Amino acid sequence: MEIMYRSTRTNSEPITSSQAILRGFPQDGGLYVPTAVPPLEKSLEELAKLDYRGVAYEVMRLLLTDYTEKELKDCINGAYDSKFDVQEIVPLKKAGDAWYLELFHGPTIAFKDMALSILPYLMTTAARKNGSGNEIVILTATSGDTGKAALEGFSGVEGTRIMVFYPKHGVSSIQERQMVTTTGANTRVIGINGNFDDAQTSVKELFTNKALVEEMAKNNMQFSSANSINIGRLTPQVVYYVYAYTRLLAEGAIKAGDPVNFVVPTGNFGNILAAYYAKRMGLPVGKLICASNSNKVLFDFFSTGVYDKNREFILTSSPSMDILISSNLERLIYHISGDCAESCAAFMKELKENGRYCITEKMREGLADFVGGYATEDETAEEIRTVYENFGYVIDPHTAVASSVYRRYRAQSGDMVPSVIDSTASPFKFESSVMKALGKKTDLPDLELADELSTTAGVPVPKAVSDLKDAPILHDIVCDRKDMEKEVRRFLGI
Ligand SMILES: *Cc1c(COP(=O)(O)O)cnc(C)c1O
Repeated sequence: MEIMYRSTRTNSEPITSSQAILRGFPQDGGLYVPTAVPPLEKSLEELAKLDYRGVAYEVMRLLLTDYTEKELKDCINGAYDSKFDVQEIVPLKKAGDAWYLELFHGPTIAFKDMALSILPYLMTTAARKNGSGNEIVILTATSGDTGKAALEGFSGVEGTRIMVFYPKHGVSSIQERQMVTTTGANTRVIGINGNFDDAQTSVKELFTNKALVEEMAKNNMQFSSANSINIGRLTPQVVYYVYAYTRLLAEGAIKAGDPVNFVVPTGNFGNILAAYYAKRMGLPVGKLICASNSNKVLFDFFSTGVYDKNREFILTSSPSMDILISSNLERLIYHISGDCAESCAAFMKELKENGRYCITEKMREGLADFVGGYATEDETAEEIRTVYENFGYVIDPHTAVASSVYRRYRAQSGDMVPSVIDSTASPFKFESSVMKALGKKTDLPDLELADELSTTAGVPVPKAVSDLKDAPILHDIVCDRKDMEKEVRRFLGI
């Protein structure tokens, strides 16, 4: 079955998967969605015998159908190698009655590495396949983790340049340090005076800025996106849901066909959307539990059917989820409206103009698989403490949001289906919040604090953190939103 991609907002001609990855997003402001969701071909038992790379191939070949077997396998083998510090790539750890899927063993110790370590391979392969001689310019807004993972993936990749904008006062100290110490002549990192939504909105505007796009074309350059709106990010994320399920099967914790719930700490709705596609591909998933922090716009949406971003933006200890406009929700809106571009476009217009929209009763039926939940700052800190005290396991604040939501959901619903909690960041990435939650002192320099956390958690300091010790700061530009275009032009020399 050949899978093509089309926009969520207009009924334009579908394009191939490699074209969709190369372009990143359609020019109408929408997002690419698959024209059909293919079923898994191999049985769950067969998939349980494969390693991570094997499962990755079996899942991704169904969604990226115009890549040859060799192309896709080369991408997978290039991405999921010794950059990850464990052989199984994503270990599944049991603590209490839940499994934690550790998605943070890649080079930047957050789950973004799962997709961003393969995206540059998928993109340069796509450029080759489609005969594009243009230099690819990646423009990325980050709430902290995407930035470094994208920089790490694209740094030094021939035929590409990457520019990252982050909210100057909205990321953790380790996150900022990771980004501003990035090497590679094709990289640029800029802090902006504003929050993540500001950065993301401005980046989207730059992508569709006609004058800029035309001038770039004259200079043989084209934009693409490394944000989670690119299907080259979404597709690799479907893999670990299938992988997690088949590991439980291999361990004998479940029988083939038994449902498993997934609990996902959510921001831009990319990670949980991948779980939704995994379910639609036939993976036996029970509930998709969408966990938010105090920026609980998604919880309110699942409870009421109204998406309303008109509210205060709250800076929390889980900054990668401090988001009021969850871009990928647009794809779900498209699907629950019966794959209708016209109604999806109308909702997105309302969102742009009034900051809110209300879906129909019929569409709400399409949300039956989802459960929304949220955790306050106090509940998040308490969860870090409880999981440590009861199970000796240290989790980061993002994972703790999900873990807290899971515990309450289970108690209130009585749903005893085996559950996997996505563990999206290493506690070392947010060590100050973690140590504070554990009641330890935190007024130490970053790297000493990492040593203290290592002693507490009984796990070594990851290389991504210890390497920061002697790394010089190479990026120090801070600008206002209105000057982002100027900075892009300066970086590109146009
Ligand atoms: C990006 C991120 C999230 C949110 O993922 P989405 O795909 O944006 O919903 C959660 N936790 C961490 C640590 C992240 O980096």
